[in-house]
Amino acid sequence: MSDRPDPSDDPARGGEGGPVSRAEQIMRFVYTLRSKGVRDAAVLQAMERIDRGAFLRGVFAERAYDDTPLPIACGQTISQPSVVALMTEALEVGPRDKVLEIGTGSGYQAAVLSQLARRVYTVERHRRLVGEARAVFDRLGLSNITAIAADGSFGLPEQAPFDRIILTAAAEDPPGPLLAQLRPGGIMVVPVGQSDTVQSLIKVRKSEAGLDYEELRAVRFVPLLEGMALD
Ligand code: SAH
Repeated sequence: MSDRPDPSDDPARGGEGGPVSRAEQIMRFVYTLRSKGVRDAAVLQAMERIDRGAFLRGVFAERAYDDTPLPIACGQTISQPSVVALMTEALEVGPRDKVLEIGTGSGYQAAVLSQLARRVYTVERHRRLVGEARAVFDRLGLSNITAIAADGSFGLPEQAPFDRIILTAAAEDPPGPLLAQLRPGGIMVVPVGQSDTVQSLIKVRKSEAGLDYEELRAVRFVPLLEGMALD
């Protein structure tokens, strides 16, 4: 992309039509994340470190630094970077935390979490996506992520409890088995909605006294589906 002139006036491609260096692309990317309200320095640094292009194929890799969701295999999508960053920020991940993600997809969100957490477990119902994500984690040397092919609605009982749990597929309600696998003092971030169009991002805090729910913002995710996919 950077070795040919681009007449486009899209700011992500260089307003003056000149080639945009990777450093400049990343600088603009981080600027966009800040402008969307991401404040946590560690989260911004994780977003800067993880190359979103590594999780995309073909022409879509060229748009890795656009703040937009993009198609991946199995008819799924990689989330919008600002949503990944805001969800990661809401999760308040610390360096000693064991994190569970439901909905590996491309693996991008798990990779961002891997920069902040001690250990990340990520669960996906499409075996093919799990295989592809594992290959990218290996290539990037992200050795603290374990990707598992399973129906994430039931969590990952053999590794529970978790300090943090994030769902990147929308549930009708925060799933009971996942709430049960959250450690007291833990946080869960989950898109909740009855339809594909109206969903709220909910932050759940678990204490000895019970569960506290906070509504963060409107979001749009693919639904959390039951059972394994066929591919
Ligand atoms: N976090 C991903 C994007 C998530 S897309 C990324 O960074 O790229 C949502 C994913 O959730 C899809 O891949 C979908 O297959 C998966 N999913 C939906 N229901 C699921 C379930 N019950 N268990 C595990 N994964 C599920």
